Amino acid sequence: MKGLAMLKIGEIGWIEKDKPKCGPRDAIVKPLALAPCTSDVHTVWEGAIGERHNMILGHEAVGVVDEVGNDVKDFKPGDRVIVPAITPDWDTEAVQRGFPSQTGGVLGGWKFSNFKDGVFGEYFHVNLADSNLGHLPDSMSLEAAVMIPDMLSTGFMGAENANIEIGSSVAVIGIGPVGLSGIAGAKLRGAGRIFGVGSRPNLIKIAKKYGATDIISYKEGDTAEQILEATDGEGVDSVIVSGGGPDILIDALNIAKPGAKISNNNYFGSGFGEQDTIPLCRAGWGVGMAEKDIVTGLCPGGRVRMERLAEVITHGRMDPSLMASHVFKGFDKLEEALLLMKDKPRELVKPVVLVEE
Ligand code: NDP
Ligand code: ZN
Repeated sequence: MKGLAMLKIGEIGWIEKDKPKCGPRDAIVKPLALAPCTSDVHTVWEGAIGERHNMILGHEAVGVVDEVGNDVKDFKPGDRVIVPAITPDWDTEAVQRGFPSQTGGVLGGWKFSNFKDGVFGEYFHVNLADSNLGHLPDSMSLEAAVMIPDMLSTGFMGAENANIEIGSSVAVIGIGPVGLSGIAGAKLRGAGRIFGVGSRPNLIKIAKKYGATDIISYKEGDTAEQILEATDGEGVDSVIVSGGGPDILIDALNIAKPGAKISNNNYFGSGFGEQDTIPLCRAGWGVGMAEKDIVTGLCPGGRVRMERLAEVITHGRMDPSLMASHVFKGFDKLEEALLLMKDKPRELVKPVVLVEE
């Protein structure tokens, strides 16, 4: 079979590999729709997870089941499925402690295009099919569905970890597809005022549709100063961080009210050069005592999560297909879509590849 792979740091290409083998509790899936991610760009061109050779990329897919193992009960060949970006080992101690995304070590639930081949192949392997795959409703467009595995799951996690209460105020720093999903999640959780921080017009338009009440451009002044001014110096009840460079937690701490949750989705894997630490600000953090908590998370995976997120779309609570700004047709277009993600033209929100032409 054919797959789009990271050949080494800085280089991608098409390679041939054997079709993956199916274990007794696993599934082999053929993609129906795929999406490249900012994380794929960090992986290949910034070496964020270290060197990898001939590893098939990608972790965002919906597909059709090709084969299942003997012990799989709820899925059969031909079923249309949502495949989570994160596929935990559900029978491990990390799950019992309540942290499925961290099974098998730090970020260990992230298997696709990290330490096994990803979903950018003609076939890919899914561990623990009954626990990880979700049924894909027939009525859902593939452009919407392919946002579920990572963009919605991560963005909504940002809102969940931010502990948003009805009517409380939120600032979402970064309004790429993760931050946009965070805005939609904040609205679903009942936030009152929602600040979206970004600059690109296409993103701003969707941010407003998803529920942002105020837009702040970090390019037109200091983010924290602008948000403090708009809130009479008070700041906000919660902050969701989904963009920005190594210093971005300083902005987050400076706009957070005492007691606020700062919910971080950002991937601090690149842009640091030789620097190994992340700066915080002493005063903005109440010299470490202002009860401003930084909460982190890796995209939640698993079947219940995928099927619940599908319910959000099925019942019209939000339409993630608005984020599919560039739709390609045909598996062969995957390379073009990934390079587009790398180059990030200003009008790009998220590229999607529909596998059947
Ligand atoms: P994008 O690159 O599409 O969006 C980033 C956003 O951040 C843009 O709106 C950009 O503004 C904004 N931004 C850039 N610099 C600043 C700044 N200095 N201050 C404020 N805003 C800024 O990213 P994605 O939405 O695809 O992903 C967001 C992050 O989430 C990435 O780090 C990604 O790796 C991570 N991620 C984490 C996951 C997890 O499990 N925790 C899963 C998936 C992704 P502009 O409008 O000007 O472009
Ligand atoms: Zn992703």
